[in-house]
Amino acid sequence: MECGALSIVPVEGRSLRTLSDYAEKFGLDYEILGRAEMARRFPQHVLRDGEVGFFDPSGGFLRTDLAVNDAVEDACRNGAEVVNDPVSGVSTRGEAVALSVGDRVEMFDRVIVSAGAWGASLLPKLAGFSSPRRVLMTWFQARSHGFSPAAFPVFSRTIGGLNVYGAPALDGRHVKISGLVPHKEVDFAPGGLDFDSSASVEELREAGTIVGSAMRGVSKYPVRATGYPDLYTSDRDFLFDWVDSSRSVLVVGGLSGKGFKMSCGLGKRAARTVLEEDVLDDSFSLSRFAV
Ligand SMILES: Cc1cc2nc3c(=O)[nH]c(=O)nc-3n(C[C@H](O)[C@H](O)[C@H](O)COP(=O)(O)OP(=O)(O)OC[C@H]3O[C@@H](n4cnc5c(N)ncnc54)[C@H](O)[C@@H]3O)c2cc1C
Repeated sequence: MECGALSIVPVEGRSLRTLSDYAEKFGLDYEILGRAEMARRFPQHVLRDGEVGFFDPSGGFLRTDLAVNDAVEDACRNGAEVVNDPVSGVSTRGEAVALSVGDRVEMFDRVIVSAGAWGASLLPKLAGFSSPRRVLMTWFQARSHGFSPAAFPVFSRTIGGLNVYGAPALDGRHVKISGLVPHKEVDFAPGGLDFDSSASVEELREAGTIVGSAMRGVSKYPVRATGYPDLYTSDRDFLFDWVDSSRSVLVVGGLSGKGFKMSCGLGKRAARTVLEEDVLDDSFSLSRFAV
């Protein structure tokens, strides 16, 4: 949904220059909004000294559940088979790859592993330079109508070292404002996909305190909070590389909290790579972590 995107950044510093440079490079419209203009157009945000708004009117957000569902349905229409069972093991056998699924073993020429936070459970090699982390999503109640997509663009800003971001209230009431507490390492239940997605009272209090000081027109008490996991690499860049010397297992992961918008491009490149129509980009190789 194209509701615009607002980045609140220091007027002095690299962020504003980078945003403007990209907008210029790709010919995008943008506006830099000073304190008075921000108060008039986006009074929901409390600016700190030296901050300005960088507004990109063509920005917006993706409906992630719909996007994933549509992608699965599209894949099925194009001949894919979806198997809804967890894979418990990936191993190379000569030139082939064996996947353990339930009590069966299935053989493939090549496999793409994109198991997100669970990547290191399937491919232990990844554990040396990546770890599953819980990202806490929080929702706050709007006290006014000023948080609809027409009035409230998606936003991001740094507060106390945290990358805080949010989206408008699609139901007119629940504003998503997240990134308010630091990521936490996740422990998965042995052999499974389950993990503790709850937030502590202390975390909810911290989240509310930030919202109370940085936003107007929303209650500072979160009405909902849920943790979701992602795989974070130690340098926060992606993993896109063969895991084995016979080039039969390709890992695409370590998306470090920023991969959704890249997923179509990554999927296309992964498919082309296993079909040998594309070559790998060294920037995302596993060898960069070699000591
Ligand atoms: C709270 C939160 C907010 C985010 N906000 C943004 C954002 O605003 N913009 C953005 O670009 N990105 C965002 N991201 C990041 C983005 O969602 C992730 O980087 C991306 O989804 C990771 O993709 P993935 O395919 O690596 O993992 P996932 O999307 O987690 O997919 C992995 C899939 O593999 C399945 N799986 C795992 N293990 C097995 C197994 N053994 N057998 C079978 N299936 C298995 C899992 O069930 C899951 O469905 C956010 C992430 C979180 C957690």
